[in-house]
Amino acid sequence: MKKLRVKCIKCGKEWQKESSFSWGHDVFTSSLCNPCFRKVISPIIHKKQLREGNFDCFGKAQDYCDQFQCKYIEWCLRWEETEKAINKTPTSR
Ligand code: SF4
Ligand SMILES: [Zn+2]
Repeated sequence: MKKLRVKCIKCGKEWQKESSFSWGHDVFTSSLCNPCFRKVISPIIHKKQLREGNFDCFGKAQDYCDQFQCKYIEWCLRWEETEKAINKTPTSR
């Protein structure tokens, strides 16, 4: 499987992700690691949750939450999926 190096723009942590192309070892892309992503997005989601009359619990569960109907659950518990979702979200809003 081909890999691409990824580096967090906030803390410098590195990891690898699968890629359909072959990249040189000195090539990397920038992103946010899961903890940094959580720090950046949590205040925004907390404001939304409070506006919606809910607790501002986003990001405060560890790896599990039983609120399966929560519209933020994918973002809250699965950070890599969240990043993919955000990258796919049109920026027209
Ligand atoms: S999944 Fe939803 S309800 Fe559960 S902690 Fe995260 S934001 Fe809160
Ligand atoms: Zn980071």
